[in-house]
Amino acid sequence: MGLKLFNTLSRSIQEFAPLAPPKVGMYCCGPTVYDFAHIGNWRTFVFGDLVRRTLEFKGYAVTHVMNITDVEDKIIKHVRETKTSLREFTGKYEAAFLEDLKTLNCRLPHHTPRATEYISEIISLIEKLVQRGIAYKAADGSVYFSIEKYRGCGCTYGQLLKLNFDEMKAGERVKSDEYAKESVADFALWKARVPEDGDVFWPSPFGEGRPGWHIECSAMSTKILGPSFDLHLGGEDLIFPHHEDEIAQSEGATGKPFVKYWLHGAHLLVEGKKMSKSLGNFFTLRDLLAKGFTGREIRYLLLTAHYRETFNFTLEGLQGAHAALARIDECLGKLREAAGAPASGSARTDPQKNLQPAGSVTGAPNELLARFTDALDDDLNISAAWGTVFEWVRETNRQLAENSLNAADASSALTAWNKIDSVLGLGTKSEAEVPAEISSLLAARQAARQAKDFKKSDAIRDELKAKGWVIEDTPKGPKLKKL
Ligand code: AMP
Ligand code: ZN
Repeated sequence: MGLKLFNTLSRSIQEFAPLAPPKVGMYCCGPTVYDFAHIGNWRTFVFGDLVRRTLEFKGYAVTHVMNITDVEDKIIKHVRETKTSLREFTGKYEAAFLEDLKTLNCRLPHHTPRATEYISEIISLIEKLVQRGIAYKAADGSVYFSIEKYRGCGCTYGQLLKLNFDEMKAGERVKSDEYAKESVADFALWKARVPEDGDVFWPSPFGEGRPGWHIECSAMSTKILGPSFDLHLGGEDLIFPHHEDEIAQSEGATGKPFVKYWLHGAHLLVEGKKMSKSLGNFFTLRDLLAKGFTGREIRYLLLTAHYRETFNFTLEGLQGAHAALARIDECLGKLREAAGAPASGSARTDPQKNLQPAGSVTGAPNELLARFTDALDDDLNISAAWGTVFEWVRETNRQLAENSLNAADASSALTAWNKIDSVLGLGTKSEAEVPAEISSLLAARQAARQAKDFKKSDAIRDELKAKGWVIEDTPKGPKLKKL
């Protein structure tokens, strides 16, 4: 069975057939860097990582692009309020975002373009739309996309969402980046400079100003992946207007179909409610790390629900993630021991056992891999995938307890697990649990010791202790242990 995915464009589950296999071009709408990304954002980004890892597991050569939205309405407002420069303001949150991606063990996208570095591509795209008569400059100096003209060319506005055009007045305009589908109207491509924009503006043939949010993604995605590419992802809130507008701008300018498969992740609720600062249920990744949870536990929990189902995130769920990971880790630990240990006991050396056809035993590596792949192929049916994993853990534990796995069996089980983990991205416990800040303190202590600066190395050891970590110096080098 090949991979099947739910395509928002056709509103159905479709066989995934990329435009130029084995290559796959995949664009995920990235963060708007005006704050630390919250756990809802992380659900969507971890979903993007699952899609990428699944495609790579299936042998596709993926080019993964994730933009950094570093200029739009909310950012301008914050730059004005904090009296900082645009770059200084967004740089801090962009660095935090990239660090958080690593904490959650997401594979780094191959390209992370910043909107502000694509201004000339954005301007060219707008010029093309103006030349084609689909965009126009309004009296306020801004350039708008004309939905009437676009539809007049036989193009469809409303490919992802059914829209009612009866109540729409031709030429009615909306300037803000975000609006509801009830306000469907000509949207801004280039926003003329206003005093509130401060220093945030660029020269252009249409006058000084800045790009609208939607055109940024069209310019960056088509520049890097070409006019037509395979996959476009984001949270469900982006379907309208952001993705609908991206389609209109891109297809309006190139005359070619923009994206073959649109994938949207459902939203995350916290303790059954929409996240909000006033309800006290608003968590950034960093808030959860400060509560003592690890990136690995958070990743696991975010990966437990199907991407098209609303997910209820709870702190209790995170405790459960800790217990579930402990079960997997314990089983893997025992398998590693078995794989390294010399064969002993009759069951381990029983030649009859090797006569069993591969895949006939529940929990056998081939069967594990086959079932896991089937689950993913079924529109990323992650619940079935985890079901397979835990069934395998149970069966492996039973075999280990019975002493019926020899070293070769244990080692092939571990090989199968590593393939599975190339999709799940859990890594091993020790790798995943040492935060980057702690690892760099350990490296600094090593450097101080090598320089014979023992005062400094002791000070770093004390600092690590205050943060809850002790260093054990072993013949193989220093090791960190959690207090
Ligand atoms: P933003 O930084 O606001 O542009 O959002 C980045 C990504 O997070 C987008 O794909 C959004 O659709 C997604 N997102 C925002 N809120 C949530 C949420 N509560 N649950 C899941 N995804 C979300
Ligand atoms: Zn986007």
